[in-house]
Amino acid sequence: MTLAGNRPTMERLRNHNRTSQTIMTVINSIADRAEEIRAWRHELHQHPEICFEEVWTSDFIAAKLESFGIEIHRGMGKTGVVGVLRGSGDSARAIGLRADIDALPMDELNEFEHASKIPGRMHACGHDGHTAMLLGAAQYLAETRNFDGTVYFIFQPAEEGGGGGLAMIEDGLFSEFDMQTVWGMHNWPSMDKGHAGIHDGVCMANADEFAMTISGRGGHAAQPHSCIDPIPCGATIVQALQTIVARRVSPVDSAVVSVTIFQAGSAHNVIPDDVKLAGTARSFRTETRQLLETAIREVSESVAAAHQCQIDFEWSPGYPATVNHAVEAERAAGVMATVLGEDNIDRDVEPSLGAEDFAYMLEEKPGAYIWLGSGPAPAEGMLHCARFDFNDEVLPIGASYWAKLVESELPR
Ligand SMILES: [Zn+2]
Ligand SMILES: [Zn+2]
Repeated sequence: MTLAGNRPTMERLRNHNRTSQTIMTVINSIADRAEEIRAWRHELHQHPEICFEEVWTSDFIAAKLESFGIEIHRGMGKTGVVGVLRGSGDSARAIGLRADIDALPMDELNEFEHASKIPGRMHACGHDGHTAMLLGAAQYLAETRNFDGTVYFIFQPAEEGGGGGLAMIEDGLFSEFDMQTVWGMHNWPSMDKGHAGIHDGVCMANADEFAMTISGRGGHAAQPHSCIDPIPCGATIVQALQTIVARRVSPVDSAVVSVTIFQAGSAHNVIPDDVKLAGTARSFRTETRQLLETAIREVSESVAAAHQCQIDFEWSPGYPATVNHAVEAERAAGVMATVLGEDNIDRDVEPSLGAEDFAYMLEEKPGAYIWLGSGPAPAEGMLHCARFDFNDEVLPIGASYWAKLVESELPR
């Protein structure tokens, strides 16, 4: 979608409580800045940083916010940045808009000019785009202040496995900044640009990890009877774990158990002493999450016992399920509909068994997380792929959504 093409649609879909001039100002003013927002995105893409190492990135964000005249707070969640912008009135209402800012520990295979300059680091999940869209909205809102209340721009580090969302909460995000609701957005390459998807409940999964060391007694491969071989034990555990989702989880529920690490042995003629297995367990419901933990532990320990092996089992809870609050999800859908058109909002989109640490913020505050269509993308250009690149054409859409969300949630 081009912004020029979007304007007549906006005209038709304008909110009758406001003048068309107001709506068109949102879209036009951000569209006019599309090249600038794109340049920020490319600069961020060239400087990817991971998991609480986002020093250059947070300097970049802070400098931009300061240049817009927005008050900044740094160091929350180590490398997090919070921008505070008060509207034109004296309302005590406040909302938080969250963008994740981190990259992934991988090499980029793209060769375009804005490709990563840092080996082993890549913005392969589009958080560069999320950051640029929120900066674009911040710039617009700081200039127009066509709202009454306070906006907190939450730039969160370490989404990709570090739990930066929780780190910011533990550092006082919600106790220092009193906001009533919190909102998130992620680009979604499997959904075409010009569309958005939102759930009135769960949208992403509980994502827990398990790991185990299965200990037997190694020895000569030609004398298995004098050893306790942990390899067949490990192989049987892998097979048996697959019965948990198939036989113990309700067929109308959803869950995943994937063994992703199986390490053993060092020579073709040596039975090793032990085997290491690890993997991930995904679910939507709390009850299913508990069932998976119990069942994975029970099955693993029982199979190990049947093979005369010892087992050291470890369960590590990861991100909880991301669960939208239905009322806020509907309001988010309504705002996005004013940007993209009602027909392009999918309120019945399938949830994902991926995970997202915005979940922690939604556990604390009402709010909603929306998927912004950014496709079509080739199979090798999906999230976390080495040839992924954020679709710049959706930058003004996302920034306009943020701006209109603020004006809708904090009306003058
Ligand atoms: Zn990701
Ligand atoms: Zn992501």
